[in-house]
Amino acid sequence: MARRWPAIPKAVAGMAGPIKISQRRGALTAPDGEDCWGLYLPPKRTIALAAGMPPALRWHTLIHEWAHAWIIDAGLTNLIHGEDAELERNIEVFCDTLATAMVRAMATHLGLDPLQKK
Ligand SMILES: [Zn+2]
Repeated sequence: MARRWPAIPKAVAGMAGPIKISQRRGALTAPDGEDCWGLYLPPKRTIALAAGMPPALRWHTLIHEWAHAWIIDAGLTNLIHGEDAELERNIEVFCDTLATAMVRAMATHLGLDPLQKK
């Protein structure tokens, strides 16, 4: 039987210091007005996650937002974030790719069920 996914931590390490994680009920609203499952708020060094997702998706969202923080902390913001819509799409794909790889690695190496519901 698969082990249960670890709980989402209250904080994670960022390259420029700790990042708080706040879980909220219901969907979140991104700066562009769209509903979303997660947000990174750089001035607050906080990742906001919508509660109620299955654990693999919750971890995927956490790692995606954490990747945004890594990029900002590393100083790559001016290179890959910007006004250009194609750059924005590319960075979302990059963060999703990292999150997918990490969630796959967690499931494989920790013996977790990627389809666990709660
Ligand atoms: Zn994103």
